[in-house]
Amino acid sequence: MHMDRNTPTYQIDTLIAEAEAMCAPRFAEIDGIERVCFERVLRAMQQERIGAQHFAPTTGYGYGDIGRDALQRVMARALGCERALVRPQIVSGTHALALGLFGLLRPGDRLLSAAGKPYDTLEKVIGIGEAADGSLADYGVRYDQAELREDGTVDIPAIARAVRKETRVVLVQRSRGYAWRPSLTLPDIKDIADTVHSANRDAIVLVDNCYGEFTCEAEPSSAGADVLIGSLIKNPGGGLAPTGGYIAGHSALIEKIAARLTSPGIGDEVGSYAASYQPFYQGLFMAPHAVAQALKGATLLACTFERAGFSVAPTHGAPRSDIIQAIRLDTENRLIAFCQAVQKASPIDSFALPEPWDMPGYAHQVIMAAGTFVSGASIELSADAPMRAPYIAYWQGGLTYAHARLAVGEALAAVLGAV
Ligand SMILES: *Cc1c(COP(=O)(O)O)cnc(C)c1O
Repeated sequence: MHMDRNTPTYQIDTLIAEAEAMCAPRFAEIDGIERVCFERVLRAMQQERIGAQHFAPTTGYGYGDIGRDALQRVMARALGCERALVRPQIVSGTHALALGLFGLLRPGDRLLSAAGKPYDTLEKVIGIGEAADGSLADYGVRYDQAELREDGTVDIPAIARAVRKETRVVLVQRSRGYAWRPSLTLPDIKDIADTVHSANRDAIVLVDNCYGEFTCEAEPSSAGADVLIGSLIKNPGGGLAPTGGYIAGHSALIEKIAARLTSPGIGDEVGSYAASYQPFYQGLFMAPHAVAQALKGATLLACTFERAGFSVAPTHGAPRSDIIQAIRLDTENRLIAFCQAVQKASPIDSFALPEPWDMPGYAHQVIMAAGTFVSGASIELSADAPMRAPYIAYWQGGLTYAHARLAVGEALAAVLGAV
């Protein structure tokens, strides 16, 4: 369909309505995934006999903080893991990943990234390029990377070749992040885990699960992953958790990471929270629904922009293993217009105009639209992009489908109006 800046609004509305009808079979699949994930979360809360007493704030050391301990057990069950650390003191996904890596790696060990270059903020954690002060490289942990194949899929033989005797941790980024590559499906993760474990029994498969939680019926723990890590202002916080991160997996590994989280000898026995834990529990309860809404919004965005002639990844009919939708916009102006339209369609700070800026941890300038209740929460409708050709916008989140649907129309109109 040919569309440009003179395309009338009613044509955009029609396009969206048609796209929505085309997405119906995918929406039905997403509903099915939501039901399975929701039941797992609900059963976890029932099995742990969660009551109002678990919401109570604590102070000081937090010895015997039942809200914290039960939340960790509920999260472990929800993710199909033995044990979890779930903490408001984990400030972001990057922090959670850094804790996991520093907790498991020792000087002389090697870290292997199985799916090409990891997420931008991990470059400084690992010490790729120059070894930043306090990076893994600074502590004598060496780094290897198995490149993705030309089409962006994982290269299993390359992974098999890259696993060495010293390889202690294999980092698997499930989500596409800021890259034009497919997210890893659970069968992909199983292939990687099987390959790694057969090459080196002692190697730990650590999945960066950011944006992946509850997008499929099961979690990577069911596909041979040893540790899963993510952020609570993304999927598993359900839009309600005000901050925090989690690390879940095999008990012995979580024990090691707990020694890094607080201190050796203290581990996960301490840590208070002087506000209520209720938003963490309720957020987890809401998470499968919030993720389903986000998946539907992303699917509609993909279908609408595909039909307007843009290249998108994934396409609307493809299975999803993360909540990110990438749209290739080809020009800087269109990319800025897209992000500004998402911001304008937000409930909070709708009047703010996002602009590209230098963000800590990122190599390029980044533009971000996040008109969110929880500052920077990307399970809420948000869009961001590194300012580099071919100017790809990454859209994610959306607590309600109605919000996403409205923003899809406004973003398309803005992009068509830009050059
Ligand atoms: C969000 C994200 C991270 C961590 O980012 P934070 O902004 O520090 O929470 C890491 N990996 C992936 C794939 C992510 O999406």
